[in-house]
Amino acid sequence: MVVDDILHFEEGLMKQTIIAVTNQKGGVGKTTTAVNLAAQLSSDKTPVLLVDLDPQGNATSGLGLDKNIKPTTYELLLESAGLKEIVLATDRPGLYILPANSNLAAAEVDLVEAERREFRLKNALGTAEEFSYIIIDCPPALGLLTINALAAADRILIPVQAEYYAMEGLGQLLATVQRVKQGLNTSLDLLGVVLTMFDKRTSLSEQVMDELKKHFDDKIFKTVIPRNVRLAEAPSFGKTIFEHDRWSKGARAYKQLAKEVTKRVNG
Ligand code: ADP
Ligand code: MG
Repeated sequence: MVVDDILHFEEGLMKQTIIAVTNQKGGVGKTTTAVNLAAQLSSDKTPVLLVDLDPQGNATSGLGLDKNIKPTTYELLLESAGLKEIVLATDRPGLYILPANSNLAAAEVDLVEAERREFRLKNALGTAEEFSYIIIDCPPALGLLTINALAAADRILIPVQAEYYAMEGLGQLLATVQRVKQGLNTSLDLLGVVLTMFDKRTSLSEQVMDELKKHFDDKIFKTVIPRNVRLAEAPSFGKTIFEHDRWSKGARAYKQLAKEVTKRVNG
């Protein structure tokens, strides 16, 4: 029994997956996906660290935390504070966050001449071995912050909004991923593409899905995130969808997505 426990514990320690939720387009559902996926994956036995890497700090405020706090991921990247000083526990057991605020916008400039500036996040996360998952909420740009996320991650998850210009920019994103893979992080891999804000009443949503399938095939998650007002409301209460309305369509979709993610990560 005791030995079993120890073995289980050690297994837990060995397996960690870092997922960057990224798309340089704003408003496609990155933060909503990062927050709710992190929440659903987390439990006492499966601690999850959510990393807010967007100067807008939406993941931070979305979990009900004050954006005026210090230190944040800015200090982490500048190496003026360590991970253990920055990490905050949330109301949800097993869910932790590295918060961010508008200070983070200066990091791109402040790190211009820094040595190995693409690896600041990767180095810092080296001291976060107790987390089973680390989910990084990326900013809507392909600059140094996103490069840090891609250099640190094992897998990337791309949310794509079901809208007319959905595919625009995806080529550029994939080219960036390829460059990072060649130069900075050879083990970076696409975890999957998830269609968000899907509205089954519009043929447009179906068209976007068909188009995505042509390009990404089985990398597309079977789970589709519907347009759901409960998902949009939750952050204004500082809550995840599971605390806000656990029976909503949005909650059920993110629960399903978390299942698929777990399967892909372990399969
Ligand atoms: P990003 O992080 O890519 O900028 P967000 O996750 O912040 O995108 O989503 C953009 C806006 O759309 C937010 O106001 C969010 O609450 C809302 N939103 C996200 N996903 C959904 C959804 N499935 N249904 C309805 N509203 C959504
Ligand atoms: Mg966001």
